[in-house]
Amino acid sequence: MKLPLSLKIAGYRYGVVYEAHRSRDRGTENPATCNSHVQTIWIDTDQHREGQESSLIHEIIEALDYHYELKLSHQTIATLETALYQVLKDNELAEQSGQNVPILADARRKE
Ligand SMILES: [Zn+2]
Repeated sequence: MKLPLSLKIAGYRYGVVYEAHRSRDRGTENPATCNSHVQTIWIDTDQHREGQESSLIHEIIEALDYHYELKLSHQTIATLETALYQVLKDNELAEQSGQNVPILADARRKE
C-alpha cells in the first residue's frame, strides 16, 4: 500500500508525517495520531510496514468521522480499520507501489 506524504480526505488536504520513536518518546501507546484541526496525520515508523499502513487507514477513518460528524465509537473505528485493511490486503488492492519512501519527520521539520 502506498504511504503518501499527503492525501485529500473529505476535500481537505492532509499532510502525513512519518516519525520514528513517536510513541516511545511521548509515552503513548498510539502508533499514529490524527489532528483534523491542522489536517495532519502522524505515523510512528517504529511499526512494521503493515502496522503503518493499517494505522494510516485508522487515521483516515478518524478524519472521516470528524468531517462528517459520524460520531463513531473508537471501537468501531478500530474494527473498521482492521476489517478494511484485511479486504484491501486479501484482494491485493493495496499493492505497494514502491515509489514512496517514508520521510522521517525530523528531516522535514523547520524547528
Ligand atoms: Zn484512534
